[in-house]
Amino acid sequence: MMSFKTLCSIGNAVSKCETPALLVYLDKLEANLKKMQEIMKKYPGVNYRPHAKAHKCPMLGQLQLKHGATGLCCQTLTEAEAMVEGGIHDIFISNQVVGQSKLLRVASLAKCAKISLCVDSEGNIEDLSSAAAKFGVNLDLVVEVNVGQDRAGVEPGEDVVKLAQKVQALPNVTFKGLQCYNGWNQHIRTITEKKAAVDLVVEKSKKALQVLKENAIECKYITGGGTGTFEHEAASGIFTEVQPGSYVFMDVDYSKNLDESGQPVSDFAHSLFVLATVQSVMPGNRAILDAGLKAVSLDSGVPKIYGSSDLSFFNGGDEHGIVRPSGNLKVGDQVWLIPGHCDPTVNMYNWIVGVRDQLVECVWPITGRGPGV
Ligand code: PLP
Ligand code: MN
Repeated sequence: MMSFKTLCSIGNAVSKCETPALLVYLDKLEANLKKMQEIMKKYPGVNYRPHAKAHKCPMLGQLQLKHGATGLCCQTLTEAEAMVEGGIHDIFISNQVVGQSKLLRVASLAKCAKISLCVDSEGNIEDLSSAAAKFGVNLDLVVEVNVGQDRAGVEPGEDVVKLAQKVQALPNVTFKGLQCYNGWNQHIRTITEKKAAVDLVVEKSKKALQVLKENAIECKYITGGGTGTFEHEAASGIFTEVQPGSYVFMDVDYSKNLDESGQPVSDFAHSLFVLATVQSVMPGNRAILDAGLKAVSLDSGVPKIYGSSDLSFFNGGDEHGIVRPSGNLKVGDQVWLIPGHCDPTVNMYNWIVGVRDQLVECVWPITGRGPGV
C-alpha cells in the first residue's frame, strides 16, 4: 500500500494534505461514538455490533469496542480478515460466504477469532461444516430470514426450521440465531412510515421465532437494524443485537431522514469529508475540483459543499467535480465535501486522515477495502 507520507504528515495543517483526501473530523467522530453508547443504554439486553462495512478500518473498529460494542459486523471476508488482523476477536459476517477458497479462508480465520456468519442454503451449511472440520474450528451460523428486502434469506416459515436443524445435525457448526435485516428501511424518510416498515420486519421475525419454538429449537439471538432503524429493532422486545454502520460518519443521504417533528435527524454528526482542491475556475460560472466520481461516490446523490449553502456540486466525470456557481473560489482553494454515501466513498481510499482543530492528528489504514472478496 502506498505510504501516507505522500498524502500528509501528522502534526501538519490539514490544508497541506494532497487531495483528494479522505478526512474524519475526530471531535465529531468521537461525539458519534459516545452518542451511540448513550442511546444503547436505553435498551438493556440489546447489544450493538457496529457494521465495519462503513469504515473498513480496524483502528476505528477498536474505538467502537471501547465505546461498548460487543464485536463488529463485516460484509466481506476481506473486511473480516482486516478486523481480525487489527486485533478484533468477535466478528459476525452478515453475509453468505460461498466458494471453496473462501470457505477455507473463513474457517482458517476462526482459528484466530470467534466467527459467525449468515447461511440460507443447506449445501452451504454442509460446505461450511466440512471446511471448519478441516481446521478443527467451530463456526456459529446465523440463518438469514427474508424480512422484506428480497435480497438473501429464506422466508419466515418451515425453511428456517430446516436450516437450523441442518446446522444442528452437522459437526463444527453451531446454530446461533437469526439475521433479520432490511436495508431499504434505513432510508425511509419519515418516522411514521419507517415505524410501519419495521413493524413488518418484527412481524416476520416473530413468525420465524415461532416456527423454531414449535420445533423445540432454542433461539437466543436475533440481529438486524442499521443507522436508520436500529432504535425500532432495539425497542421491539425480540431483537438482541443491532448493527448500525453509517452512524460513525453519516452522509448527505442519511441527513435526509426526519425525526418525529419532521426535522432532519440530528443524533449523529457528519464526521466524514473528502478534501478537494479547485484546479480551474470560470469566474461567475463554475469552479472545477480535483475530486470526481473516483473520489466521492455519487450512487446516492452528489456531495454537499461543507459551509457553503449557495454552491452545489455537479458530476464532472471520473476525476472532476463541478461547483456551480463559482462563488469566491480561486484556483488552489480547498473545498470540504460531505459525501452522498459514506460506505462506497471510504472504499476508494487507502488511508483516512484524522483531523482535529485543522491539524492532522492521525492517519489510519483502510485495510479492509476492496470490491467484496
Ligand atoms: N447490516 C447489514 C446486513 C447491512 O447490509 C448494512 C448496510 O448496508 C448495515 C447493517 C449497516 O447499515 P447502515 O450503514 O445503514 O447503518
Ligand atoms: Mn450504505
